Amino acid sequence: MINYLYQEQNWQSQLSDLITDPLELLELLQLSPEQLLSGAILASEQFKLRVPRAFVGKMSVGDPFDPLLLQVLPHHLELEEHPGFVTDPLDEESANHIPGVLHKYSSRFLLTLTGACAVHCRYCFRRHFPYQENLPKNDDWLNIQSYLQSQAQINEVILSGGDPLTLSNRKLAQWIERLESIAHLKILRIHSRVPIVIPNRIDEELISLLKNSRLRIIVVVHSNHPAELDDFTCSKLLQLTKQDILVLNQAVLLKGVNDSADVLVALSHQLFEARVMPYYLHVLDKVKGAHHFDLAPRQIDLIYKDVLASLPGYLVPKLVREIAGEKNKTPLFGIATF
Ligand code: SF4
Repeated sequence: MINYLYQEQNWQSQLSDLITDPLELLELLQLSPEQLLSGAILASEQFKLRVPRAFVGKMSVGDPFDPLLLQVLPHHLELEEHPGFVTDPLDEESANHIPGVLHKYSSRFLLTLTGACAVHCRYCFRRHFPYQENLPKNDDWLNIQSYLQSQAQINEVILSGGDPLTLSNRKLAQWIERLESIAHLKILRIHSRVPIVIPNRIDEELISLLKNSRLRIIVVVHSNHPAELDDFTCSKLLQLTKQDILVLNQAVLLKGVNDSADVLVALSHQLFEARVMPYYLHVLDKVKGAHHFDLAPRQIDLIYKDVLASLPGYLVPKLVREIAGEKNKTPLFGIATF
């Protein structure tokens, strides 16, 4: 492991010092540049490498198959075309009527306040999402507000990726205050991978902001492998859960990364140490560039069967797929033809 002393560094300076050069990443991990087969640099130009040094610090030096590295290192296979793997696998464009807003599910409403992420996950289903055309500006709040006011069945707003915790606490506070002004909103859910890749993002100011909101706050983190949850990361997650903030985890099942029951079981146990409950295990969304992470339905079934047999029910994440146009996530298991 590499020690970057990231525990002492504030999250803002970590966020402004991301690794974006694949060769620098390989050098830090003492890996040969030949690891980048031709095409990987082009893949990186299409979807840039971004990874915080704190996350690299959890990778194993000298291991080209490190499961954390595989999630972020551009790969020449991303350039291949595969039938069914498309730029907008969830057809989000058709749910995007106002900048920054996705309204797919009846009672929930999704806001993308930023296109920025602290890490670029190579399998991300929004890797081609046109964030720049979609960011809500201050003026757009009036449209969002009147839309929310006209939809009394919406009781929950989800802040999602780009990653809302890349925003400053001041900006987050401004949005939370706006949302609190809509009387029928009860819950604010924040989807973020930042607490996993830059644990110091969970700072005093953020905790105070979340615990003092009139909205019930749920933080949904995104961790795919137990090696992402070292003691320091767990201690930061515990700071949230100790404030009575519900923290859930969603993971994506990825070939070469976490495609074994042992890894998934260890992930659930590690999450529980931080009082984080496993929530979803997503099968891969068929996004262009991510085919090499895909698993056959039969394999998925076998892995999940072992997970079910190894964990108490409360630690088993729901295996789901999101299907464009459906009103909810689709539960999967025992249907090897999905
Ligand atoms: S952090 Fe989330 S939104 Fe950002 S690249 Fe990773 S999976 Fe996608």
